[in-house]
Amino acid sequence: MGVPKFRRKYQTEDPTKTKSKRLELEDFLERTYKSAISQILSYFSQQATQENSAKKWRENAATLKSLEGFMLMVNKQLNEVEAKAERLIKRYVATAYKKGQDEASKTANEQMKQKNMPMVSAMFTLKHQQAIQRMANLKLKDIKAINEDLRNAIRKSLVKSADEGWSIDQTRKVISDLLTKDQKVKKVDAVVFGARIRGRAQAIARTSVIQAYAQGAKDHYQSLEDDGIIVRKEWVATVHMTGTTSTGSKARRVASIGRTCSVCHTLDGKVSDLDGKFRTTADGKTYTYDTPPAHPNCRCAIVGKVVGFE
Ligand SMILES: [Zn+2]
Repeated sequence: MGVPKFRRKYQTEDPTKTKSKRLELEDFLERTYKSAISQILSYFSQQATQENSAKKWRENAATLKSLEGFMLMVNKQLNEVEAKAERLIKRYVATAYKKGQDEASKTANEQMKQKNMPMVSAMFTLKHQQAIQRMANLKLKDIKAINEDLRNAIRKSLVKSADEGWSIDQTRKVISDLLTKDQKVKKVDAVVFGARIRGRAQAIARTSVIQAYAQGAKDHYQSLEDDGIIVRKEWVATVHMTGTTSTGSKARRVASIGRTCSVCHTLDGKVSDLDGKFRTTADGKTYTYDTPPAHPNCRCAIVGKVVGFE
């Protein structure tokens, strides 16, 4: 069984407490895409019915003339998605980053108080501002990649529509499926692709927040180290308890492996130098991480361990 030993008290709640923020951003990104897609679709219907009667759609689309005009509209919509996503991601990354800093400051101060060390509050400087910008830019690059794929997929569908003589309704449905279909694998390329877009937008939303939180925490611990306070980082995973098993009279709690992946399970409780990497082996592969996330749905965090003065 892949259940690790009950080493210490597990964190059973999301240690970052950022779930609502992650879901909010996910929802915003999805709505942004949905509204762009519905604009694209209504434009398509208009154009297709104005310029081509259903039976003429094939011939006209085949000339690629109406296709180019349509792609201009697609580009305009996707550029708007990019602009909106940029603002959203930056806002959520900044919030999560500052929260990570503040929580790290609280954690460190509690320990420093016990060690009779002077407390240090979290600072927000240009350096931190730049860290936020860097992270937001990386995520925006992912959004751009999604949009590029979406553009290509729409174009491909339209060409295929013309080649194979799909009806306007059929074509409209395929384009709509590009984004809105749930994760079902169907034989039409476009549908499989659609599931990927939604999944990728979700992954961006989730990793943005978790990563920004972890980076904010790490940067705060780093600033303590810059002041000569030695801090180690501990990986804390969210581990769900699903029940108990009885061994004699003693009940043992069993950690669920259902929602925590094997990588995060093995990382849980590992301690590293602040500059070091967390390293683990799971399913025969070796993984290294500076901070969470270990994967898109990761709900892990780092917690500082104040060691003392240098
Ligand atoms: Zn994780």
